[in-house]
Amino acid sequence: MRIPKSVKIGGFNYDIILGDIAANRDKYGEISTLYSTITIEKNMTHQKQEETLLHEVLESIDSHYELDLKHSVLQTICFAMIQVVRDNKLYFGQEDENE
Ligand SMILES: [Zn+2]
Repeated sequence: MRIPKSVKIGGFNYDIILGDIAANRDKYGEISTLYSTITIEKNMTHQKQEETLLHEVLESIDSHYELDLKHSVLQTICFAMIQVVRDNKLYFGQEDENE
C-alpha cells in the first residue's frame, strides 16, 4: 500500500507527514487532532510505516468516538488487522481504482 497524502477519519481530513520523530522519543508515529496531522517516522521500513499509519488511524477513531480503548487492545486490533489485510491481499477501494 502506498502511504497516502491524507486520510479522512470521522469527517476530518488528516494530512500525513513523513517526518523525523522517533530519534528522541521512542515513537513511530503520532497524531494531532488539534492540527489534523498524522506524522509517521520516515526512517523505518515501508511495512512499519503502513502499520504505524493504521495504528494512528485507530488512535483517531478511539479519540473521535470516545471508545476509551486500552492501548494494548488498540495495538492488538492493529496487528490483527494488518495480518488479515496483508495475508489475504484485501483491498477496500473501488475495483477500477486497483487496476
Ligand atoms: Zn498508540
